[in-house]
Amino acid sequence: MRIIVCIKQVPDTNEVRMDPKTGTLIREGVPSIINPDDRHALEEALRIKDRQEAEVIVLTMGPLQADVALREALAMGADRAILLTDRKFAGSDTWATAHALACAIGKIGAFDLILCGRQAIDGDTAQVGPQVAEYLNVPQVTYVQSMKLEGEKVVVERALEEGCEIVETSLPCLLTAVRELNTPRWPFMAGIFDAWREDRVEVWSADDIGADASIVGLKASPTAVRRAFTPEPKARGTMLEGSGRETVRDLISRLREKHVIS
Ligand code: FAD
Repeated sequence: MRIIVCIKQVPDTNEVRMDPKTGTLIREGVPSIINPDDRHALEEALRIKDRQEAEVIVLTMGPLQADVALREALAMGADRAILLTDRKFAGSDTWATAHALACAIGKIGAFDLILCGRQAIDGDTAQVGPQVAEYLNVPQVTYVQSMKLEGEKVVVERALEEGCEIVETSLPCLLTAVRELNTPRWPFMAGIFDAWREDRVEVWSADDIGADASIVGLKASPTAVRRAFTPEPKARGTMLEGSGRETVRDLISRLREKHVIS
């Protein structure tokens, strides 16, 4: 079985600040990590590999430094790592990014399962996984919190706001993982040494995957970002004190004062 895991290297958003003048992220000195949901996607692939014969390939599109994320994935147990990097990819929105990933998957060849994270913590759109599935014309299930392979199909539990949904689909398919899916393992020592061998990460350019400017890059991206800004902080909330009955009375009178209720 061949499993492809799409991982994105992201800035650790706990450490990120916005430049109030330019509205862009201040990345200097901010550590990069594997996007948290993607670690759960990778862990699930590795668990399948623990149980049965499987090849786990990690794929990312990003700058040269994104190879660190791939090496961490190798150190966790992935078999093969591919970095898509090229100036031609610059300015790609989610649609163009997904197209590049789909082209790379086309070059990898036949697969049984693609696992993505639900959402990246920097871009935050949750669009790339579903778009890759659309490009490849395979079934997709998002928000996967548990999954079970049963021969040529997979039965998954989707996390919904109020409960869950059980969905069955045939392979090959694409699933997007949420953190409830599992607890990711740590890289292991021998894996770390092996992962840092120079030839462990394959580097592919736009030409290597047959992607030109009509598919990737700014011109192929239908999204335009008008402005990015940090919202003004809201006024502090008011804590109501007293017993349940007193605070409810207080709340009602405050809402009446503001004509929210009559
Ligand atoms: P989501 O859709 O939230 O991610 C969901 C999942 O998809 C992830 O968990 C992961 O499994 C997978 N995934 C997402 N991105 C990747 C990836 N790169 N590799 C592998 N798997 C992935 N970003 C740049 O870095 N450089 C640019 O020059 C650039 N230009 C942009 C220009 C425009 C007009 C726009 C709108 C965006 C630009 N971006 C750029 C941002 C870039 O398009 C997004 O970061 C990227 O498409 C992923 O979107 P997301 O972060 O919302 O991921």
